[in-house]
Amino acid sequence: MATIELETPSNGKYQQPTGLFINNEFIEGVDKKSFEVINPATEKVICSVAEATEKDVDVAVAAARAAFNGEWSKVTPEARGKLLVKLSELMEANLDQLAAIESLDNGKAISMAKGDVAAAVGCLRYYGGWSDKIEGKTIDTNTDTFTYTRQEAIGVCGQIIPWNFPILMWSWKIGPAIATGNTVVLKTAEQTPLSALFAAKLIKEAGFPPGVINIISGFGKTAGAALSSHMDVDKVAFTGSTIVGRMILKAAADSNLKKVTLELGGKSPNIVFDDADIDNAISWVNFGIFFNHGQCCCAGSRIYVQEGIYDKFIARFKERAEANKVGDPFHPETFQGPQVSQLQFDRIMGYIDEGKKAGATVTTGGGRHGDVGYFIQPTIFSDVTEDMKIVQEEIFGPVCTISKFKTEEEAIAKSNGSNYGLASAVHTTNLNTALRVANSIRAGTVWVNSYNMIHHQAPFGGYKESGMGRELGEAALANYTQTKTVSIRLGDALF
Ligand code: NAD
Repeated sequence: MATIELETPSNGKYQQPTGLFINNEFIEGVDKKSFEVINPATEKVICSVAEATEKDVDVAVAAARAAFNGEWSKVTPEARGKLLVKLSELMEANLDQLAAIESLDNGKAISMAKGDVAAAVGCLRYYGGWSDKIEGKTIDTNTDTFTYTRQEAIGVCGQIIPWNFPILMWSWKIGPAIATGNTVVLKTAEQTPLSALFAAKLIKEAGFPPGVINIISGFGKTAGAALSSHMDVDKVAFTGSTIVGRMILKAAADSNLKKVTLELGGKSPNIVFDDADIDNAISWVNFGIFFNHGQCCCAGSRIYVQEGIYDKFIARFKERAEANKVGDPFHPETFQGPQVSQLQFDRIMGYIDEGKKAGATVTTGGGRHGDVGYFIQPTIFSDVTEDMKIVQEEIFGPVCTISKFKTEEEAIAKSNGSNYGLASAVHTTNLNTALRVANSIRAGTVWVNSYNMIHHQAPFGGYKESGMGRELGEAALANYTQTKTVSIRLGDALF
């Protein structure tokens, strides 16, 4: 079952790997288990892929350990960089194919999927450039001692990724881990294993030694839990829900105290002041919540609009949301496809019901779109209070709340009234307002007059319960290295 022929509406027939990618080979699991992958636009089965159990996690970790202790440790930083760049080039050459797989498996609009693959390519190339720029320091201590530090790889890294940006999260995890000389066992989300397996084929083609990058498909409670509690995994990096993030931290504490970095949820505020350019603000607010069907950890789901423009804003934002094209992910003009799974569809519809029951006004949307596939109408709730569940909890779907504020202080206080702190935005034409608000928001990212503009050169991560550590940029290298101090005695014996 290592490869099967599949077909996508945009790219036709292709060969889809379905095995566990361990030691550069696609293999069946020890117990030969498999699970079905569903197309969220049609609710039909696409194919089955090999399912990793705890035993397969052991096999993958052993492969990664052998590579870390063996051949990989002798590969120069420059050669590591070349491998990453080569992988990025192969992905670029397969951009249309990878995007088609992503749309088929995840349901995201094909134009957006192409953007994701292009961003993944850029991310791997960027970290390829960092490989030979990992530097320590010399430290002046006293005249009899020469002291320096080395930034060394941590070892075998377990990486657990979600389904909302499958290939992009794959690159965010692999790029910095490999640039710094680690080896990897990466578990994809059970909803979206296909693009990662296709890209795994390219890992071998790029020339990575066996065992350096291992990609497994499987479930969180089994394979994910096995990785996070494994005694021979030195670090685990996770992106997903806050609830699972807590479990991973506990598993690390209860096993070998492996290093942990977490990118978790959010309930990000998007603030629009009276003096904002209203056309631009509406466009960014719309993109902030409805991009990727609201399935973004940084989605701008709490919208705060100043009282002077509130009525005008809400009327025009409603029009804009209703104009978003919802439907077939392979139609070139589609903006919003289906939610990823029946479970996510049900969770989001549950929140919509909750909002209605709590007395919020449905300004637009509030229901299912069509009758096949997990499509949900872009939904705006108004007349909300800060204590409502739909204002406090992450919905992870095309659902936002909008409320009015009078003063800058009120907007800041409401924005910060959340346990999360991943992202935020402020729309204003006054630079002083923009900078004052940017300095006051307790979040890892503040966008000014834009939204969702993530660049692989700049750090991304959460304050408060939105996570630990930073991905992207130079900052991500710290997640994957540890500092060693070497102290050399230059003089005679002390006594
Ligand atoms: P999840 O956190 O359960 O899944 C994310 C990843 O974690 C998957 O690979 C999954 O297999 C793995 N996982 C699950 N349980 C695990 C465990 N006990 N140990 C180790 N790994 C485990 O997310 P979900 O259930 O698919 O989605 C639920 C909610 O999570 C969403 O509604 C959303 O709020 C949030 N979410 C956030 C992100 C993000 O980018 N921050 C991504 C996906 C989901």
